[in-house]
Amino acid sequence: MATVADEVLSIFARRGESAYYGEEVSQLEHALQTAYCAQQEGASEALIVAALVHDIGHLLEEIPENSADLGIDAKHEEIGRHWLSERFGMDVAEPAHLHVSAKRYLCATDRDYFATLSAASVQSLALQGGAMTSAEVREFEENEFYRDAVALRLWDDKAKIPGLPTPALDSYREMVNAVAARRSGR
Ligand code: FE
Repeated sequence: MATVADEVLSIFARRGESAYYGEEVSQLEHALQTAYCAQQEGASEALIVAALVHDIGHLLEEIPENSADLGIDAKHEEIGRHWLSERFGMDVAEPAHLHVSAKRYLCATDRDYFATLSAASVQSLALQGGAMTSAEVREFEENEFYRDAVALRLWDDKAKIPGLPTPALDSYREMVNAVAARRSGR
């Protein structure tokens, strides 16, 4: 039977070479760099896996690469949330799902954050609803996983460096299956 890691690897094998919207790296490079940042900062295994698969929703559906130019918010985080929640616990699915809201949160709460965003990320922010209102900020902070989502977001924003060496996707195989097994073991 195919494991969750097999599924993840085959999704990246199929679509991982596609461009990461408006950036100089592929989807696979972006995923690997995000996971590597998480690893370097000593994140839990669940959060490292969340970092690796946070954009999987982009890869599950045929979403045009220039969707933001077309004025379409592809809602990849909703597509991804469903897929992830069937395979992992909330400690993976929620931070991944919330990484878009975390951008809106950071824009509202961190004065310096907006200046760090890439052009493509600023463009998609408008489609995602712009900075959070103070009511939205309070609501976001009630989510048990909001800090993980914010951490993931900051790694996500950094993970756009062309040619940065990282561990290979295959090296996460065991970790992905171990984290997935904890969900079914609950
Ligand atoms: Fe991302």
